[in-house]
Amino acid sequence: MKSPFQGNPLKFPLSQAKLLQPDFVLGDTIIHLTPAILRHYHLEGLVLDVDETLVPMKESSVSPELQQWVENIRRFATIWLVSNNISGYRIGKIADSLDLPYFSGAGKPSRRKLRQALHSMDLPVSQVAMVGDRLFTDVLAGNRMGMFTILVEPMVDSTEALKAYPIRNAEVWISEKLGVSLRRSQH
Ligand SMILES: [Mg+2]
Repeated sequence: MKSPFQGNPLKFPLSQAKLLQPDFVLGDTIIHLTPAILRHYHLEGLVLDVDETLVPMKESSVSPELQQWVENIRRFATIWLVSNNISGYRIGKIADSLDLPYFSGAGKPSRRKLRQALHSMDLPVSQVAMVGDRLFTDVLAGNRMGMFTILVEPMVDSTEALKAYPIRNAEVWISEKLGVSLRRSQH
């Protein structure tokens, strides 16, 4: 697959660079996103990415820690899953195990499925956060939609002590070159 980031990264339109800036950089995996952070930013809805935000790519079942996090956080926010994965089977299985509504094959940074999720949440767009591990899909889509955006660290595959994230790392590198700050937010 041809990388969209080949060649001079500065060819990326600078007018869009600000759309890569997360409103909040968690600096940790999603289970460290607390109700206090949601409260601080007046967030009542969360749209969550799935692959490597909730579940490592090679795993298809949800960890007990994640299950517990969802059970806690859903008392404070309406949650939807919006994944780019075209496997409705994989995403559906994960969504079912968490008892959450979902869209697969979302094609983020397209806004189409985010708009549908927001519509069914019936919340002001500014009170819904897009939470994901990727800048050029999750953060870009959320910012284009006018949502609050939260960048999380990817879920590490328990079978691999060290995992490389070449595309994610390239996105981080390019974004920082474009002036995006990815320092961990204070909380
Ligand atoms: Mg992801």
